[in-house]
Amino acid sequence: MTRTEAKRWQDSPDPGVREAAARVLAGRARVMAKSLPRRKDEAVEAESKADEDRRVRAACVERSAGHCEACGADRGPALHHDHFWGRGRDRSVEGSWMLCPPCDTKKTENVGGRLAWLLRFGLHVQIYAYGHQLAKVERHVGLERAQHPATEVP
Ligand SMILES: [Zn+2]
Repeated sequence: MTRTEAKRWQDSPDPGVREAAARVLAGRARVMAKSLPRRKDEAVEAESKADEDRRVRAACVERSAGHCEACGADRGPALHHDHFWGRGRDRSVEGSWMLCPPCDTKKTENVGGRLAWLLRFGLHVQIYAYGHQLAKVERHVGLERAQHPATEVP
């Protein structure tokens, strides 16, 4: 008996059919209750996302070895973890880098222009052979050059 049939048969005049239909529906309810996300599971998931952010940041801190990954300045704990494409778009180790406060400010304010920052990040991902990131940078560089053909690279 399917669940749809059970629903139809739960109003049957036959008590045996009604009983069988009730069993099917109860079983289905148990299955559904098991598959529903629990509040506890959601909390665990949220915590693991924070853990993931910490892990990504720690990996970037280690990779940078205390140096700004854009200009090379030795800044140690003053470095900022920057998600190049935006935190909502790419939270990976490959998609982020450690920046000294001046570079972080310049990037936020887009000093030098988007193309210059794309090329700087492109150099960084090339050093670490992050192929997927490099392909993404190249795509964006292509778009940027098509949109602003006169832009000079500093
Ligand atoms: Zn810097």
